[in-house]
Amino acid sequence: MDRLAIKGGKPVRKTYLPYGRQWIDDEDIEEVIETLKSDYITTGPKIKEFEEKVAAYTGTKYAVAISNGTAALHAACFAAGVRPGDEVITTPMTFAASANCILYCGAKPVFADIDPQTYNINPEDIKRKITSKTKAIIPVHYTGQPVDIDEINKIAKQYGLIVIEDGAHALGAEYKGEKVGSQSDMMTLSFHPVKHITTGEGGMVLTNSKDFYEKLKLFRTHGITRDENLLTKNEGPWYYEQQYLGYNYRMTDIQAALGISQMNKLNKFLELRRKYAQMYNDAFKDIEELIIPYQLPYTNSSWHIYVLQLRLEKLKVGRREVYEALLKENIGVNVHYIPVYYHPYYQRLGYKKGLCPNAEHLYERIITLPLFPKMTEEDINDVIEAVKKVINYYKK
Ligand SMILES: *Cc1c(COP(=O)(O)O)cnc(C)c1O
Repeated sequence: MDRLAIKGGKPVRKTYLPYGRQWIDDEDIEEVIETLKSDYITTGPKIKEFEEKVAAYTGTKYAVAISNGTAALHAACFAAGVRPGDEVITTPMTFAASANCILYCGAKPVFADIDPQTYNINPEDIKRKITSKTKAIIPVHYTGQPVDIDEINKIAKQYGLIVIEDGAHALGAEYKGEKVGSQSDMMTLSFHPVKHITTGEGGMVLTNSKDFYEKLKLFRTHGITRDENLLTKNEGPWYYEQQYLGYNYRMTDIQAALGISQMNKLNKFLELRRKYAQMYNDAFKDIEELIIPYQLPYTNSSWHIYVLQLRLEKLKVGRREVYEALLKENIGVNVHYIPVYYHPYYQRLGYKKGLCPNAEHLYERIITLPLFPKMTEEDINDVIEAVKKVINYYKK
């Protein structure tokens, strides 16, 4: 058997393969240059065009481009009316931003546990965590696999709650034959370089509600409006009003131009991500030390990340050794995610370990493998070879 690189053997790959990265081509660059030469580099026509393009793609009425995905979550919480004294339920198996946005509004994040099979927030545990203070639910389409939004909407309706989907992983994912984005009150997106399309930094909120749409636009620009229909009075053509405490969360037209061009490639990107995920699934499905991602039958994941679960009871070592061995093979592995409330900041707020046992159990066992459209089949095969090599070495 091949010696592991970590034990002095030869690595499967000569060069390091990251877990995710953008794909920007000359066409994208041309679009950005055109905008740089134009009259508007911010708050111009490219923003509207980008918003309309993403709204049309996801089948949603309104879209508001925002400076990044975290700001999009903050804006959505503001539009939902999340305030001090409120509680908002979310999953711990996510990036900290999904919960931080609740704290930004002075409200309290309440963590509901995940389903051990889908790794998404468990609707049954959402119900258990609802109190008279609950205002909203922020489910995350973890890895790009849609949450069971019909179930969550049912609960929200029963208790009068607002649903904000964190769709940072889920642009292009499908639920019961529809693109995600229009099934709840709002859905947020991120255009960070590791996500499905990129604008460098960037985000968006999708909604079918005119009321949320107006609030989101206000929040993006200091809470200030010039819209005659919204003004409380009108002192003249110069007049504008600050009606809420908003932020400067605007995206530039330079970024929107890149986003528009990237949207033209989204279907190709998705196709490649799905093909590569299938290659991983085929390679790993019969290896008893590994658990491949489960898919709900009526969903089509957008495969933002590929998360393998280790059956630790069948291995001689822990996740850390497997992770470090893969790194030594030059495979850019990662862990998504450390349960949000494990972070020292949340611990200081009083959250205790043991809160969400399924998420904590999963966290000990997961490794994210590289997955991005610019990879080649050869890259995928390198990852497969490295995983097989490491698992073979460490299996009991
Ligand atoms: C990336 C991400 C965000 C934050 O997006 P930014 O654009 O980086 O601010 C929020 N939630 C999840 C689940 C993410 O993966």
